[in-house]
Amino acid sequence: MMKKLLSLLLVLLFLLPAGGVALAESAAQEPEDWIEISDLDGLLAVADDPDGNYLLTADIDMAGIDWKPIPFRGFFDGAGHTLYNLQIGTVGEEVRVTRDGNLKSYDTVFSGFFSVLENATVRDLQIVGATLAVDGTDHCFVGLLAGYMYRSSIQGCSVQGRAWLINHAVQSGVGGLVGYGAGDFGYCSADVELVFEDRNLESRCEQFMGGILACGLVNIEDCKVQIDGYDSCHGYVHNGGLVGMYYYCGMDVHAQSVRRNEIRGQISFFEDNPDRRAYCEPTLGEEMSVPGNYYSNESEFERNETRDYDKVLLPEQCEEPEYHTTLTSPTCDTWGYVLHECKNCGYHWTDTYFPPQHTPGDWEIVESADETHEGVREKHCTVCGELIVRESYSYEPPEPVYSEEIVAVQGVESTETLGVLFHGSAQAMRAKDATGLLIWSSDDPAIASVDQNGTIHGLSRGQTTVRYSSEDGLYSGVCTVTVYYSFWQWLLIVFFFGWLWYV
Ligand SMILES: [Zn+2]
Ligand SMILES: [Zn+2]
Repeated sequence: MMKKLLSLLLVLLFLLPAGGVALAESAAQEPEDWIEISDLDGLLAVADDPDGNYLLTADIDMAGIDWKPIPFRGFFDGAGHTLYNLQIGTVGEEVRVTRDGNLKSYDTVFSGFFSVLENATVRDLQIVGATLAVDGTDHCFVGLLAGYMYRSSIQGCSVQGRAWLINHAVQSGVGGLVGYGAGDFGYCSADVELVFEDRNLESRCEQFMGGILACGLVNIEDCKVQIDGYDSCHGYVHNGGLVGMYYYCGMDVHAQSVRRNEIRGQISFFEDNPDRRAYCEPTLGEEMSVPGNYYSNESEFERNETRDYDKVLLPEQCEEPEYHTTLTSPTCDTWGYVLHECKNCGYHWTDTYFPPQHTPGDWEIVESADETHEGVREKHCTVCGELIVRESYSYEPPEPVYSEEIVAVQGVESTETLGVLFHGSAQAMRAKDATGLLIWSSDDPAIASVDQNGTIHGLSRGQTTVRYSSEDGLYSGVCTVTVYYSFWQWLLIVFFFGWLWYV
């Protein structure tokens, strides 16, 4: 009997996948067809097809809308792109059951970029400058990436921002990446300010806070957390640098790896409760399930407990804060942002992010265009030299370029028909290049026409541009022509007269 049990155990052990990722179901197959998203409208359309496979093809500015958290069950590949200036002030419509440490159930709502992730994969998505602020009367979990996850995998994602939850119910949590649930995290990072305030003084809250996940059972490998947490609780506190409470919470899942993670920061909290537990640890706050592979987690973490239960704990320490605002401009490879800093206590946060930007120089001609051939031109960054645009372009007569040699032509001749003649330009041209014909044109022949000898005829009052180019396209020129009345005759005035030469 013992032997049989032992061999069964061995078989079971053997069946567990290597590397400790036991939630194999959560690792979706690589999709073949992707729906590409390059703007906010594309992102909003995810809500209409939450089972789809999405690929971000650009960074997207989320400023100016209150993002409605969306449920998701597909594959979302951020491809390293960034959603910046995300603002969330509400919970999603989805309700899921969450459980506390005694497996007591709560119908719960969620907030985050995603409300709930179920059998979903989210990969290489960056969220920068996010602000989440929810004040609610329902049991609630929030996280900047998602409020809830189940059998879902989050790989190579990062969040940076602030998540604040004021709650009037019992079950509540704030996570950096995700609020509640089960799944996998690999190579993720969270640089977060997390604030929880319990406004329910009637019953003791079940409160959770963690840099990666507030409460649940997950594999967490190779993740980095920078946490600044504030937690005012009249109930039970479960706080951890990575996970507030590590527990399966009645879900049919396994997880066994919490390793190679780095945690920096602090959580300030109070637990106003005669039955005091005050869980607050650098990695896992309360370990009700114990991960098998639990090692190489490095932390520099401060557990800051206070006993003054009347003063809500907030990152801003001053009664009368005074904020200074400074703008850091983006560079070729760094983001720009606005920094708000309190002069008195030093509390600061950043928002209003700008994506990295090159400084484009002038067009450089790689191959010049003529009337029969397209040319190729490039723009480089004047700071780092990187090629910004390379494109083909078609020949266009140049815009007027005014030289220093201003020739105001007064000595014009009358034609038989109307007004004046002007010969000067054609003669000047031929003097410079005697070979080849010149092709003349007028932008508005109703004001001034030009014949193929370069004779300009003023026809009616107004201003137009007369152009020429050589047949071989190697040189060309423009001048502005103004036609108006004089005492005696139509006068044609050519002013700002300049020729642009191409070789
Ligand atoms: Zn201050
Ligand atoms: Zn540059």
